[in-house]
Amino acid sequence: MQVDAAETAHLQSLLARVGEALDEFVKFDHPDAQVNGDGWRRRLDIPLPQKGVGIDRVTEELVKVVIPNGSSITRPGFSSYITTGGTTVAALAATAANIASPQRYHLHAFNLLEEVSLKWLATMCGIGSMQGVYSSGGSTANLLALGAARQFAFEQVGHDVAAAGVHRQVGVYATAEAHHTVQRSAGVLGIGRRAVRPIACDDRGRMDVNDLRRVIAADRQAGVLPMAVVANAGTTNTGAIDPLREIAEVAREHGVWFHVDGAYGLPGILDERKAHLYQGLELADSVIVDPHKWLGASIGVAATFVRDRELLLRAFTQEPADYLEGSIEQDESTAPAIEHSMDDFGIPYFDYGVELSAPSRGVVVWALIREIGVEGMRERVRRHNDMATRIADIARQHQNLELLIEPTLSICCFRYFSDQVDDLDRLNRLLHRRLIRENRNLPSTTQVGGKLALRPCFVGARANLEHADSLVDDVLRIGGELVRGLS
Ligand SMILES: *Cc1c(COP(=O)(O)O)cnc(C)c1O
Repeated sequence: MQVDAAETAHLQSLLARVGEALDEFVKFDHPDAQVNGDGWRRRLDIPLPQKGVGIDRVTEELVKVVIPNGSSITRPGFSSYITTGGTTVAALAATAANIASPQRYHLHAFNLLEEVSLKWLATMCGIGSMQGVYSSGGSTANLLALGAARQFAFEQVGHDVAAAGVHRQVGVYATAEAHHTVQRSAGVLGIGRRAVRPIACDDRGRMDVNDLRRVIAADRQAGVLPMAVVANAGTTNTGAIDPLREIAEVAREHGVWFHVDGAYGLPGILDERKAHLYQGLELADSVIVDPHKWLGASIGVAATFVRDRELLLRAFTQEPADYLEGSIEQDESTAPAIEHSMDDFGIPYFDYGVELSAPSRGVVVWALIREIGVEGMRERVRRHNDMATRIADIARQHQNLELLIEPTLSICCFRYFSDQVDDLDRLNRLLHRRLIRENRNLPSTTQVGGKLALRPCFVGARANLEHADSLVDDVLRIGGELVRGLS
Protein backbone atom coordinates (compact mmCIF):
# COMPACT_ATOMS: atom_id res chain seq x y z
CA MET A 1 0.00 0.00 0.00
CA GLN A 2 1.27 3.45 -0.84
CA VAL A 3 1.45 6.45 1.48
CA ASP A 4 2.92 9.87 0.76
CA ALA A 5 6.67 9.37 0.84
CA ALA A 6 7.29 12.27 3.18
CA GLU A 7 5.00 10.83 5.85
CA THR A 8 7.47 8.02 6.47
CA ALA A 9 10.33 10.51 6.71
CA HIS A 10 12.12 11.18 9.93
CA LEU A 11 10.72 13.99 12.04
CA GLN A 12 13.76 13.82 14.27
CA SER A 13 16.30 14.83 11.65
CA LEU A 14 13.99 17.35 9.99
CA LEU A 15 13.08 18.98 13.30
CA ALA A 16 16.77 19.12 14.16
CA ARG A 17 17.41 21.16 11.00
CA VAL A 18 14.53 23.51 11.74
CA GLY A 19 15.64 23.71 15.39
CA GLU A 20 19.15 24.69 14.36
CA ALA A 21 17.79 27.50 12.18
CA LEU A 22 15.56 28.70 15.01
CA ASP A 23 18.48 28.66 17.48
CA GLU A 24 20.34 30.82 14.99
CA PHE A 25 17.30 33.11 14.65
CA VAL A 26 17.12 33.72 18.40
CA LYS A 27 20.74 34.89 18.45
CA PHE A 28 19.27 37.87 16.59
CA ASP A 29 22.39 38.41 14.49
CA HIS A 30 20.28 38.47 11.33
CA PRO A 31 19.23 41.70 9.63
CA ASP A 32 15.59 42.79 9.58
CA ALA A 33 13.42 41.08 6.96
CA GLN A 34 13.16 44.27 4.88
CA VAL A 35 16.92 44.51 4.42
CA ASN A 36 17.06 41.68 1.83
CA GLY A 37 13.38 41.96 1.00
CA ASP A 38 13.74 41.58 -2.77
CA GLY A 39 15.77 38.39 -2.41
CA TRP A 40 13.38 36.32 -0.31
CA ARG A 41 10.29 37.76 -1.95
CA ARG A 42 11.55 36.58 -5.33
CA ARG A 43 12.24 33.09 -4.00
CA LEU A 44 8.93 32.71 -2.15
CA ASP A 45 6.35 34.49 -4.30
CA ILE A 46 6.37 32.01 -7.19
CA PRO A 47 3.54 30.66 -9.37
CA LEU A 48 1.48 27.73 -8.05
CA PRO A 49 3.76 24.67 -8.31
CA GLN A 50 2.26 21.73 -10.23
CA LYS A 51 5.09 19.42 -9.21
CA GLY A 52 6.33 19.15 -5.63
CA VAL A 53 9.97 19.54 -4.65
CA GLY A 54 9.88 17.11 -1.71
CA ILE A 55 10.18 17.62 2.01
CA ASP A 56 13.97 18.06 2.08
CA ARG A 57 13.78 20.99 -0.29
CA VAL A 58 10.86 22.49 1.67
CA THR A 59 12.86 22.15 4.88
CA GLU A 60 15.82 23.76 3.17
CA GLU A 61 13.73 26.75 2.07
CA LEU A 62 12.23 27.09 5.53
CA VAL A 63 15.69 27.09 7.07
CA LYS A 64 17.45 29.31 4.54
CA VAL A 65 14.77 31.67 3.28
CA VAL A 66 11.73 31.83 5.56
CA ILE A 67 13.02 31.64 9.14
CA PRO A 68 15.91 34.13 8.77
CA ASN A 69 13.42 36.65 7.36
CA GLY A 70 10.85 36.21 10.10
CA SER A 71 9.26 38.72 12.46
CA SER A 72 11.06 41.06 14.84
CA ILE A 73 8.51 40.35 17.59
CA THR A 74 10.73 37.68 19.17
CA ARG A 75 13.63 40.13 19.70
CA PRO A 76 14.41 40.77 23.38
CA GLY A 77 14.35 44.52 22.66
CA PHE A 78 10.89 44.32 21.06
CA SER A 79 8.40 46.06 23.37
CA SER A 80 5.67 47.20 20.95
CA TYR A 81 1.94 46.64 21.53
CA ILE A 82 1.44 43.65 23.88
CA THR A 83 3.01 40.74 22.10
CA THR A 84 6.14 38.63 22.30
CA GLY A 85 7.68 35.43 21.00
CA GLY A 86 6.61 32.26 22.76
CA THR A 87 9.18 30.65 25.04
CA THR A 88 11.17 27.60 23.99
CA VAL A 89 9.07 25.23 26.10
CA ALA A 90 5.90 26.64 24.52
CA ALA A 91 7.30 25.95 21.05
CA LEU A 92 8.07 22.36 22.06
CA ALA A 93 4.62 21.78 23.53
CA ALA A 94 2.80 23.34 20.56
CA THR A 95 4.83 21.22 18.14
CA ALA A 96 4.07 18.08 20.14
CA ALA A 97 0.35 18.88 20.12
CA ASN A 98 0.44 19.43 16.36
CA ILE A 99 1.38 15.79 15.86
CA ALA A 100 0.11 13.92 18.90
CA SER A 101 -3.23 15.67 19.50
CA PRO A 102 -4.67 17.49 16.51
CA GLN A 103 -7.94 18.05 18.45
CA ARG A 104 -8.56 18.76 22.12
CA TYR A 105 -11.45 16.26 22.43
CA HIS A 106 -11.44 12.51 23.29
CA LEU A 107 -9.90 11.11 26.45
CA HIS A 108 -6.10 11.30 26.29
CA ALA A 109 -3.22 13.12 27.94
CA PHE A 110 -3.66 16.35 25.96
CA ASN A 111 -7.37 16.48 26.77
CA LEU A 112 -6.60 16.04 30.47
CA LEU A 113 -4.00 18.83 30.33
CA GLU A 114 -6.64 21.14 28.87
CA GLU A 115 -8.51 21.02 32.19
CA VAL A 116 -5.47 20.65 34.49
CA SER A 117 -3.86 23.77 33.01
CA LEU A 118 -7.09 25.80 33.14
CA LYS A 119 -7.30 24.98 36.85
CA TRP A 120 -3.63 25.86 37.40
CA LEU A 121 -4.06 29.12 35.50
CA ALA A 122 -7.15 30.09 37.49
CA THR A 123 -5.52 29.25 40.82
CA MET A 124 -2.31 31.08 39.90
CA CYS A 125 -4.30 34.20 38.99
CA GLY A 126 -6.48 34.26 42.11
CA ILE A 127 -9.73 32.99 40.57
CA GLY A 128 -9.36 29.36 41.57
CA SER A 129 -13.05 28.54 41.79
CA MET A 130 -13.82 29.54 38.19
CA GLN A 131 -14.18 27.24 35.18
CA GLY A 132 -12.40 27.95 31.91
CA VAL A 133 -12.24 27.37 28.20
CA TYR A 134 -9.40 28.16 25.80
CA SER A 135 -9.78 30.09 22.58
CA SER A 136 -7.49 31.76 20.07
CA GLY A 137 -6.90 35.14 21.68
CA GLY A 138 -8.25 37.96 23.81
CA SER A 139 -10.64 38.90 21.01
CA THR A 140 -12.48 35.57 21.12
CA ALA A 141 -12.05 35.30 24.90
CA ASN A 142 -13.90 38.61 25.32
CA LEU A 143 -16.53 37.44 22.82
CA LEU A 144 -17.19 34.29 24.87
CA ALA A 145 -17.35 36.19 28.15
CA LEU A 146 -19.78 38.72 26.72
CA GLY A 147 -21.77 35.88 25.14
CA ALA A 148 -22.18 34.45 28.64
CA ALA A 149 -23.16 37.90 29.92
CA ARG A 150 -25.76 38.25 27.17
CA GLN A 151 -27.20 34.83 27.94
CA PHE A 152 -27.37 35.67 31.67
CA ALA A 153 -28.97 39.11 31.19
CA PHE A 154 -31.72 37.81 28.90
CA GLU A 155 -32.40 34.74 31.07
CA GLN A 156 -33.09 37.18 33.92
CA VAL A 157 -36.00 38.51 31.86
CA GLY A 158 -37.12 35.04 30.78
CA HIS A 159 -35.72 35.09 27.24
CA ASP A 160 -33.34 32.50 25.70
CA VAL A 161 -31.39 34.89 23.53
CA ALA A 162 -29.16 32.18 22.01
CA ALA A 163 -32.25 30.49 20.57
CA ALA A 164 -34.58 33.41 19.93
CA GLY A 165 -32.23 36.32 19.22
CA VAL A 166 -31.95 39.81 20.65
CA HIS A 167 -35.37 41.39 21.13
CA ARG A 168 -34.54 44.52 23.06
CA GLN A 169 -31.85 47.12 23.58
CA VAL A 170 -29.09 46.35 26.09
CA GLY A 171 -26.23 48.32 27.63
CA VAL A 172 -22.56 47.37 28.08
CA TYR A 173 -20.47 49.71 30.22
CA ALA A 174 -16.79 50.26 29.41
CA THR A 175 -14.33 53.14 29.37
CA ALA A 176 -12.59 54.55 26.31
CA GLU A 177 -9.50 52.66 27.54
CA ALA A 178 -11.23 49.28 27.16
CA HIS A 179 -9.98 47.14 24.30
CA HIS A 180 -11.89 47.73 21.06
CA THR A 181 -12.66 44.03 20.78
CA VAL A 182 -15.42 44.81 23.29
CA GLN A 183 -17.27 46.86 20.66
CA ARG A 184 -16.57 44.22 18.05
CA SER A 185 -17.95 41.50 20.34
CA ALA A 186 -21.09 43.59 20.83
CA GLY A 187 -21.45 43.79 17.05
CA VAL A 188 -20.97 40.04 16.60
CA LEU A 189 -23.39 39.24 19.44
CA GLY A 190 -26.11 41.23 17.71
CA ILE A 191 -26.54 43.78 20.47
CA GLY A 192 -24.75 46.37 18.35
CA ARG A 193 -21.56 48.33 18.84
CA ARG A 194 -23.55 51.29 20.08
CA ALA A 195 -24.72 49.20 23.05
CA VAL A 196 -21.26 49.87 24.50
CA ARG A 197 -21.71 53.01 26.60
CA PRO A 198 -18.62 55.12 27.22
CA ILE A 199 -17.88 55.53 30.94
CA ALA A 200 -15.58 58.36 32.04
CA CYS A 201 -12.02 57.76 33.29
CA ASP A 202 -9.93 59.54 35.90
CA ASP A 203 -6.57 61.06 34.89
CA ARG A 204 -4.87 57.68 35.44
CA GLY A 205 -7.14 55.95 32.92
CA ARG A 206 -9.31 54.17 35.52
CA MET A 207 -13.08 53.88 35.39
CA ASP A 208 -15.03 56.64 37.18
CA VAL A 209 -17.43 54.59 39.30
CA ASN A 210 -19.83 57.51 39.86
CA ASP A 211 -20.20 57.91 36.13
CA LEU A 212 -20.81 54.16 35.83
CA ARG A 213 -23.63 54.46 38.39
CA ARG A 214 -25.12 57.42 36.55
CA VAL A 215 -25.07 55.78 33.10
CA ILE A 216 -26.59 52.48 34.31
CA ALA A 217 -29.35 54.37 36.12
CA ALA A 218 -30.10 56.44 33.02
CA ASP A 219 -30.26 53.28 30.87
CA ARG A 220 -32.67 51.65 33.33
CA GLN A 221 -34.85 54.74 33.22
CA ALA A 222 -34.91 54.51 29.44
CA GLY A 223 -35.90 50.83 29.48
CA VAL A 224 -32.51 49.57 28.32
CA LEU A 225 -31.49 46.19 29.81
CA PRO A 226 -28.06 46.58 31.49
CA MET A 227 -26.03 43.58 30.27
CA ALA A 228 -22.42 43.84 31.45
CA VAL A 229 -19.82 46.07 33.04
CA VAL A 230 -16.39 45.60 31.44
CA ALA A 231 -13.50 46.46 33.74
CA ASN A 232 -9.81 46.34 32.86
CA ALA A 233 -7.10 44.59 34.84
CA GLY A 234 -4.34 46.24 32.83
CA THR A 235 -5.41 48.50 29.96
CA THR A 236 -3.69 48.08 26.63
CA ASN A 237 -2.66 51.72 26.50
CA THR A 238 -1.04 52.30 29.88
CA GLY A 239 -1.65 49.17 31.99
CA ALA A 240 -4.14 50.91 34.29
CA ILE A 241 -6.27 48.72 36.58
CA ASP A 242 -9.85 49.80 37.22
CA PRO A 243 -11.17 49.93 40.82
CA LEU A 244 -12.49 46.38 40.63
CA ARG A 245 -14.14 46.15 44.04
CA GLU A 246 -16.13 49.36 43.65
CA ILE A 247 -17.18 48.38 40.15
CA ALA A 248 -18.23 44.94 41.40
CA GLU A 249 -20.42 46.59 44.02
CA VAL A 250 -22.21 48.73 41.45
CA ALA A 251 -22.67 45.71 39.19
CA ARG A 252 -24.10 43.72 42.08
CA GLU A 253 -26.48 46.52 43.11
CA HIS A 254 -27.95 46.43 39.61
CA GLY A 255 -27.71 42.66 39.08
CA VAL A 256 -25.42 43.28 36.10
CA TRP A 257 -22.72 40.86 34.88
CA PHE A 258 -19.22 41.92 35.95
CA HIS A 259 -16.52 41.12 33.36
CA VAL A 260 -12.80 41.70 33.91
CA ASP A 261 -10.55 41.93 30.85
CA GLY A 262 -7.14 40.79 32.06
CA ALA A 263 -5.88 39.71 28.63
CA TYR A 264 -2.59 41.48 29.30
CA GLY A 265 -2.56 42.36 32.98
CA LEU A 266 -4.08 39.47 34.92
CA PRO A 267 -0.68 37.81 35.64
CA GLY A 268 0.35 41.11 37.30
CA ILE A 269 -1.42 39.78 40.39
CA LEU A 270 1.61 37.51 40.89
CA ASP A 271 3.72 40.54 41.88
CA GLU A 272 3.03 40.97 45.63
CA ARG A 273 3.64 44.71 45.28
CA LYS A 274 0.70 44.95 42.85
CA ALA A 275 -1.66 42.29 44.20
CA HIS A 276 -3.74 44.80 46.20
CA LEU A 277 -4.79 46.46 42.93
CA TYR A 278 -6.72 43.30 42.06
CA GLN A 279 -9.01 43.37 45.09
CA GLY A 280 -12.53 42.66 43.88
CA LEU A 281 -11.36 40.32 41.11
CA GLU A 282 -12.88 37.45 43.11
CA LEU A 283 -16.32 39.07 42.56
CA ALA A 284 -16.08 38.85 38.77
CA ASP A 285 -18.63 36.82 36.79
CA SER A 286 -16.12 36.40 33.94
CA VAL A 287 -12.40 37.00 33.53
CA ILE A 288 -10.13 36.63 30.53
CA VAL A 289 -6.37 36.25 30.26
CA ASP A 290 -4.04 35.76 27.27
CA PRO A 291 -1.30 33.26 28.12
CA HIS A 292 0.23 34.28 24.77
CA LYS A 293 1.00 37.71 26.19
CA TRP A 294 2.69 37.86 29.61
CA LEU A 295 3.02 34.11 30.23
CA GLY A 296 5.03 33.39 27.07
CA ALA A 297 2.70 30.92 25.34
CA SER A 298 2.99 30.40 21.60
CA ILE A 299 0.50 32.64 19.83
CA GLY A 300 -3.16 31.57 19.78
CA VAL A 301 -3.78 30.83 23.46
CA ALA A 302 -6.37 32.75 25.50
CA ALA A 303 -8.67 31.68 28.32
CA THR A 304 -12.16 32.74 29.39
CA PHE A 305 -13.23 31.97 32.97
CA VAL A 306 -16.81 31.95 34.29
CA ARG A 307 -18.44 30.64 37.47
CA ASP A 308 -20.41 27.91 35.69
CA ARG A 309 -19.68 26.69 32.18
CA GLU A 310 -23.31 25.56 31.76
CA LEU A 311 -24.06 29.19 30.94
CA LEU A 312 -21.44 29.12 28.16
CA LEU A 313 -23.02 25.88 26.97
CA ARG A 314 -26.45 27.48 26.73
CA ALA A 315 -24.95 30.50 24.96
CA PHE A 316 -22.77 28.66 22.45
CA THR A 317 -23.86 25.03 22.02
CA GLN A 318 -23.98 23.87 18.41
CA GLU A 319 -26.66 21.33 19.43
CA PRO A 320 -25.87 17.58 19.18
CA ALA A 321 -25.03 16.36 15.67
CA ASP A 322 -25.21 12.84 14.21
CA TYR A 323 -21.69 13.11 12.82
CA LEU A 324 -20.25 14.11 16.23
CA GLU A 325 -22.01 12.99 19.40
CA GLY A 326 -23.99 10.51 17.31
CA SER A 327 -20.85 8.43 16.77
CA ILE A 328 -20.50 7.85 20.51
CA GLU A 329 -22.87 5.68 22.53
CA GLN A 330 -24.90 8.14 24.64
CA ASP A 331 -27.44 5.78 26.22
CA GLU A 332 -26.12 5.11 29.71
CA SER A 333 -27.84 1.73 29.94
CA THR A 334 -26.06 0.39 26.86
CA ALA A 335 -22.89 2.52 26.80
CA PRO A 336 -19.81 0.36 27.44
CA ALA A 337 -17.22 1.28 30.07
CA ILE A 338 -14.58 3.73 28.91
CA GLU A 339 -11.85 1.56 27.43
CA HIS A 340 -10.67 3.63 24.50
CA SER A 341 -9.86 7.34 24.21
CA MET A 342 -12.58 7.57 21.57
CA ASP A 343 -15.30 6.29 23.92
CA ASP A 344 -16.08 9.85 25.02
CA PHE A 345 -15.39 13.44 23.91
CA GLY A 346 -14.46 14.51 27.44
CA ILE A 347 -15.43 17.99 28.61
CA PRO A 348 -17.25 19.54 25.63
CA TYR A 349 -15.02 22.59 25.18
CA PHE A 350 -16.34 22.81 21.61
CA ASP A 351 -19.75 23.72 23.03
CA TYR A 352 -18.39 26.41 25.38
CA GLY A 353 -17.21 28.71 22.61
CA VAL A 354 -17.20 29.34 18.88
CA GLU A 355 -14.55 26.83 17.77
CA LEU A 356 -15.17 23.15 17.04
CA SER A 357 -11.80 22.14 15.59
CA ALA A 358 -9.18 23.77 17.77
CA PRO A 359 -5.61 23.00 18.79
CA SER A 360 -4.74 21.49 22.18
CA ARG A 361 -3.65 24.62 24.00
CA GLY A 362 -3.65 23.24 27.52
CA VAL A 363 -0.39 21.40 26.95
CA VAL A 364 1.30 24.72 26.19
CA VAL A 365 0.10 26.36 29.42
CA TRP A 366 0.92 23.19 31.36
CA ALA A 367 4.48 23.25 29.98
CA LEU A 368 4.98 26.95 30.79
CA ILE A 369 3.92 26.57 34.41
CA ARG A 370 5.56 23.16 34.86
CA GLU A 371 8.90 24.50 33.60
CA ILE A 372 9.39 27.40 36.01
CA GLY A 373 6.51 27.06 38.47
CA VAL A 374 4.48 29.90 39.92
CA GLU A 375 7.70 31.19 41.49
CA GLY A 376 9.39 31.49 38.11
CA MET A 377 6.35 33.24 36.67
CA ARG A 378 6.30 35.64 39.62
CA GLU A 379 9.98 36.46 39.11
CA ARG A 380 9.40 37.14 35.42
CA VAL A 381 6.38 39.37 36.05
CA ARG A 382 8.29 41.26 38.77
CA ARG A 383 11.25 41.72 36.45
CA HIS A 384 9.05 43.22 33.74
CA ASN A 385 7.34 45.53 36.25
CA ASP A 386 10.81 46.55 37.49
CA MET A 387 11.79 47.44 33.92
CA ALA A 388 8.87 49.88 33.60
CA THR A 389 9.65 51.32 37.05
CA ARG A 390 13.31 51.73 36.13
CA ILE A 391 12.48 53.81 33.06
CA ALA A 392 9.98 55.87 35.09
CA ASP A 393 12.58 56.54 37.81
CA ILE A 394 15.14 57.73 35.28
CA ALA A 395 12.59 59.79 33.32
CA ARG A 396 11.38 61.57 36.46
CA GLN A 397 14.91 62.79 37.21
CA HIS A 398 16.39 63.43 33.78
CA GLN A 399 15.94 66.90 32.28
CA ASN A 400 15.67 65.44 28.76
CA LEU A 401 13.00 62.90 29.57
CA GLU A 402 9.34 63.33 30.47
CA LEU A 403 7.31 60.67 32.28
CA LEU A 404 3.74 60.93 30.94
CA ILE A 405 1.99 58.65 33.43
CA GLU A 406 3.12 56.58 36.41
CA PRO A 407 3.39 52.95 35.34
CA THR A 408 0.99 50.48 36.95
CA LEU A 409 2.46 47.25 35.56
CA SER A 410 5.07 46.67 32.83
CA ILE A 411 4.15 49.55 30.47
CA CYS A 412 5.95 52.89 30.77
CA CYS A 413 4.77 55.91 28.75
CA PHE A 414 7.52 58.53 28.46
CA ARG A 415 9.25 60.68 25.89
CA TYR A 416 12.26 62.76 25.02
CA PHE A 417 12.02 66.36 26.19
CA SER A 418 13.84 69.51 25.18
CA ASP A 419 12.88 73.12 25.87
CA GLN A 420 14.54 74.07 22.57
CA VAL A 421 11.90 72.22 20.56
CA ASP A 422 8.32 73.43 20.05
CA ASP A 423 6.84 70.31 18.48
CA LEU A 424 7.76 67.52 20.87
CA ASP A 425 5.27 65.16 19.26
CA ARG A 426 7.10 65.46 15.96
CA LEU A 427 10.49 65.10 17.61
CA ASN A 428 9.42 61.91 19.36
CA ARG A 429 7.86 60.56 16.19
CA LEU A 430 11.16 61.02 14.36
CA LEU A 431 13.00 59.53 17.32
CA HIS A 432 10.72 56.51 17.29
CA ARG A 433 11.34 55.81 13.60
CA ARG A 434 15.11 56.05 14.24
CA LEU A 435 14.80 53.54 17.09
CA ILE A 436 13.02 51.11 14.80
CA ARG A 437 15.66 51.57 12.05
CA GLU A 438 18.41 50.76 14.55
CA ASN A 439 16.58 47.44 15.13
CA ARG A 440 17.61 46.98 18.77
CA ASN A 441 14.95 48.54 20.99
CA LEU A 442 11.52 48.44 19.37
CA PRO A 443 8.77 50.10 21.44
CA SER A 444 5.49 51.36 19.97
CA THR A 445 3.89 54.75 20.59
CA THR A 446 0.57 55.97 21.93
CA GLN A 447 -1.15 59.17 23.05
CA VAL A 448 -1.26 60.04 26.74
CA GLY A 449 -3.09 63.22 27.73
CA GLY A 450 -2.85 64.45 24.14
CA LYS A 451 0.92 63.90 23.98
CA LEU A 452 2.80 61.42 21.82
CA ALA A 453 4.42 58.84 24.10
CA LEU A 454 7.01 56.16 23.57
CA ARG A 455 5.34 53.11 25.03
CA PRO A 456 7.49 50.10 25.84
CA CYS A 457 5.45 47.18 27.17
CA PHE A 458 7.66 44.48 28.67
CA VAL A 459 6.24 40.96 28.49
CA GLY A 460 9.01 39.00 26.76
CA ALA A 461 10.71 36.15 28.62
CA ARG A 462 13.98 37.03 26.84
CA ALA A 463 13.98 40.66 28.08
CA ASN A 464 15.66 41.96 31.23
CA LEU A 465 16.65 45.21 32.95
CA GLU A 466 19.54 45.75 30.53
CA HIS A 467 16.99 46.17 27.75
CA ALA A 468 15.22 48.89 29.72
CA ASP A 469 18.52 50.71 30.29
CA SER A 470 19.54 50.27 26.68
CA LEU A 471 16.23 51.76 25.50
CA VAL A 472 16.73 54.84 27.70
CA ASP A 473 20.32 55.23 26.44
CA ASP A 474 19.13 55.03 22.83
CA VAL A 475 16.33 57.55 23.41
CA LEU A 476 18.71 60.05 25.00
CA ARG A 477 21.35 59.63 22.28
CA ILE A 478 18.94 59.85 19.33
CA GLY A 479 16.95 62.67 20.96
CA GLY A 480 20.15 64.68 21.48
CA GLU A 481 21.23 64.14 17.86
CA LEU A 482 17.81 65.16 16.55
CA VAL A 483 17.70 68.35 18.63
CA ARG A 484 21.19 69.34 17.41
CA GLY A 485 20.06 68.63 13.85
CA LEU A 486 16.82 70.59 14.22
CA SER A 487 18.24 73.68 15.96
C1 LIG B 1 -4.47 42.26 23.65
C2 LIG B 1 -5.75 42.56 24.31
C3 LIG B 1 -6.95 42.04 23.81
C4 LIG B 1 -7.02 41.27 22.51
O1 LIG B 1 -6.28 40.10 22.59
P1 LIG B 1 -5.76 39.30 21.30
O2 LIG B 1 -5.11 38.12 21.92
O3 LIG B 1 -4.80 40.21 20.59
O4 LIG B 1 -6.93 38.95 20.47
C5 LIG B 1 -8.10 42.28 24.53
N1 LIG B 1 -8.07 42.99 25.66
C6 LIG B 1 -6.92 43.53 26.17
C7 LIG B 1 -6.96 44.33 27.43
C8 LIG B 1 -5.72 43.32 25.49
O5 LIG B 1 -4.59 43.86 25.97
